[in-house]
Amino acid sequence: MFPAAAASPNRYIIGKIASIRMEFTVSEQALDLLVIGGGSGGLACAQRAAEYGAKAAVVESQRLGGTCVNGGCVPKKVMWNAAHVAAALDDAEHYGFGVPRAGHDWAALKAKRDAYVARLNAIYERNLAAKGVEYVAGHARCVDARTVEVNGRRLSARHVVLATGGAPIVPALPGAEFGITSDGFFALEHRPRRAAIIGSGYVACELAGAFHGLGTAVELFIRKARVLNHFDEMLGVALMREMRAQGVVIHEHVAPAAVRQTDGLKTLIAADGREFAGFDCLMWAVGRTPNVGDLGLDRTGVELDGDGFIVTDGFQDTNVEGVHAIGDVTGRAALTPVAIAAGRRLSDRLFGGKHGRRLQYDMIPTVVFTHPPIGTVGLGEAEARARHGAAIKVYVAGFVGMYYAVTVRKPRTQMKLVCLGPEEKIIGCHIIGDGADEMLQGFAVAIRMGATKSDFDDTIAIHPTSAEELVTMR
Ligand SMILES: Cc1cc2nc3c(=O)[nH]c(=O)nc-3n(C[C@H](O)[C@H](O)[C@H](O)COP(=O)(O)OP(=O)(O)OC[C@H]3O[C@@H](n4cnc5c(N)ncnc54)[C@H](O)[C@@H]3O)c2cc1C
Repeated sequence: MFPAAAASPNRYIIGKIASIRMEFTVSEQALDLLVIGGGSGGLACAQRAAEYGAKAAVVESQRLGGTCVNGGCVPKKVMWNAAHVAAALDDAEHYGFGVPRAGHDWAALKAKRDAYVARLNAIYERNLAAKGVEYVAGHARCVDARTVEVNGRRLSARHVVLATGGAPIVPALPGAEFGITSDGFFALEHRPRRAAIIGSGYVACELAGAFHGLGTAVELFIRKARVLNHFDEMLGVALMREMRAQGVVIHEHVAPAAVRQTDGLKTLIAADGREFAGFDCLMWAVGRTPNVGDLGLDRTGVELDGDGFIVTDGFQDTNVEGVHAIGDVTGRAALTPVAIAAGRRLSDRLFGGKHGRRLQYDMIPTVVFTHPPIGTVGLGEAEARARHGAAIKVYVAGFVGMYYAVTVRKPRTQMKLVCLGPEEKIIGCHIIGDGADEMLQGFAVAIRMGATKSDFDDTIAIHPTSAEELVTMR
């Protein structure tokens, strides 16, 4: 048990009877840990601390679970699944089924999705109670580095963790307010007829795929010549090819300058004067900004970078002693498992006696839930060559998966292994194709453990799968 917590007279009762725990007010006595933000990172951090016996509280201004549960991974995956079902229905006749595809009830799906999210919100609240973490509903503002005010109540703690996440950016352009963001996407009650999506990152591509799969005519507007610029080039090029083959229109080199709305229809006006008209939905997917605006950080001395993200060192510590930050608000690898891992490791170190424990930010596997999906880990080819020059050797594979042997559509799967040095240590693995989402996790373990190309070669293939290509590349 965490020693300071053991000294508290209330600790025994609190640990034993979780429901009674919620009735204690903690404002009179300092907490061990106060987390601002009940999203992926904040919840994980507070619960891990409580497991060590720390007296912890989480402040959340909206729904528990944060972006991932309420406006990110979870509702997005439901929509991805729906689009996946739509594609399977299209393929069904080629497999001998007489299944007509008679539209899609967006509102019915949304109602089910919302109910699922509400169930998760409730589970998160129960989990906090079960772990003995106090849940404070309200907006937190810092009074000083270790004191926070919520609904007129002051809470102070030995350690404060800032886990306030981020919010979608709406560019400061005339008429930008006529557009929605990813938050607005999840609020849509009905499927738009024609959608303009502005952005080239993974959120833009994923939501374009969901819209298109469910019957919206989608036009994607990108600033440069390629989507997913931060990934290996093969992935963005292949995704654009597959999206276009499905009927998504992609406009390259469009710098948005303004939006006009007439009779509910939006026109996107580009900086070079081009106009794209007739959209009943326009969505900005141009990045996210950290939630620090109304947090009172000016009273804490916590340092922000040029984009407003909280500056942290390798241990999630800010420049102010006892103040830490995790997750999207730190601007590093904005992914749910990263926020969770950073939060848990921080509590391991602060309350679990695991000195030196911290998150390593390299070799983070990630999936883009497009159609087809993308799985990627490690360095892209260009980045690897820039770092290691001629010591890099690349293996590629490209094929049409066996599922498509009898279908009309023939999407290509592509794979790439980036290997380093004479031992051919695998430092990058990039896949676009069906199953990439589930395929990557296991390969990421092997790669993190230092697998070489010969380790892959020595692994017996599983046949017939797409994954087997990863261990049979020459
Ligand atoms: C459309 C979309 C799809 C995504 N898909 C994936 C995916 O498939 N896989 C993946 O790994 N990641 C995905 N992400 C990213 C993932 O959602 C985030 O990386 C993750 O939620 C970050 O967790 P966090 O704890 O840092 O912040 P959040 O989960 O955003 O939590 C921050 C919380 O802090 C609260 N808060 C803010 N300010 C205050 C305040 N002053 N007082 C009290 N509470 C406050 C907010 O209300 C929020 O609930 C997606 C994101 C988006 C937008």
